[in-house]
Amino acid sequence: MKVTRLDTYFLSAPLPQPVSTSTHRITSVSEVVVKLTTDAGPVGIGEAHGPFLFQQGPDGLRTVSDIITAITPLVVGQDPFDAERIWQDLFALTYTSVRGIPTLARQQRPLVTAMSAIDIALWDLKGKAIGRPVWALLGGALRRRVPAYVTGFYYRDGERPDDLVREAAMYVAQGYRTLKVKVGGLTPEADAERVGVIRKAVGKDVAIMLDANQGWNLPTAVRAATLCAPHDIFWLEDPMPWYDERRTLERLKAEVDIPIAAGETEYSPFGLRTMLAEGLVDYLIIDSTWAGGLTTWRKAAVMAELYQIPLAAHHDPQIHVHAIAASPTGFILESFADPTRDPLWFELFRERPSIVDGFMALPDAPGLGLELRDDTLQKYGVKIG
Ligand SMILES: [Mg+2]
Repeated sequence: MKVTRLDTYFLSAPLPQPVSTSTHRITSVSEVVVKLTTDAGPVGIGEAHGPFLFQQGPDGLRTVSDIITAITPLVVGQDPFDAERIWQDLFALTYTSVRGIPTLARQQRPLVTAMSAIDIALWDLKGKAIGRPVWALLGGALRRRVPAYVTGFYYRDGERPDDLVREAAMYVAQGYRTLKVKVGGLTPEADAERVGVIRKAVGKDVAIMLDANQGWNLPTAVRAATLCAPHDIFWLEDPMPWYDERRTLERLKAEVDIPIAAGETEYSPFGLRTMLAEGLVDYLIIDSTWAGGLTTWRKAAVMAELYQIPLAAHHDPQIHVHAIAASPTGFILESFADPTRDPLWFELFRERPSIVDGFMALPDAPGLGLELRDDTLQKYGVKIG
């Protein structure tokens, strides 16, 4: 089986009302979709998103489009079962030229995002070729259903405490038992009050995670964590910026008792190794759609087992359900349950994998088990490569 064609689409769906984290105002959600056609029939589907998509517009898209055009010769004509070699070739472009293709060292991050979607599509193809789901290729299912938490409680203009109570009730009614709340966008006192409103609304049997999206410095993180701790916090995610995490996470962990989760902004297996080897996190978060695909996930999953650190996925549960299920320390998926936060999740798939009582069941269909809706691709998508 050989890849004969690589098609890339960029999808962007506007939100009815912008939402904010501590560091971003989100006005739309976006996704890169890669389709790999083969000479044997199956078509592989891969998805990715990444920080470069926050700067949308012609320049951002041209960058992705140029990268896809540059790397296509390393993918088309290849056997999907050579996924590791293709990964090595594409990753090498982050620092050197590869078989006549000039280095993309200055576009490292969007390059790795593009190769993530391609790698995921290759895994989808491998599964379709042998008629087995991707989780079977990744080592087999250690669990038949995978826990999922819901991310919500973004900052919205004109928010009132009642809005938080209503949002919490919506998630609990859908069966979720773990909720993630955005922090870092207000003073520590105001954030702690917000968390308190949610804790009071859901009672003591629902787990609450906090995500600061790297919006704090160390003293603020210590102060905020201390103020939120009485509300029984399951984990504190991304308290401080990535560039100094090796020092700041170590110091934060020495001062607060809340378990720390981080890793979603790493975009190589080597960055993930640092977090594990230096004991920076209690939960490692991986986004395979911007860290180099499921091939990167597999490398990190081995390390996480050896360091005994639970793995959590960032975004795209429809892909990560395979990875969490097959990872010895696989733990939990992230999901969205509010159509005003993630319209693509609700509209992109012919049959959306359902989350029941806070669990996603493993798909049995070959590959990733996903079929995209053509009308959604047309409604939100443009072809960029
Ligand atoms: Mg996060």
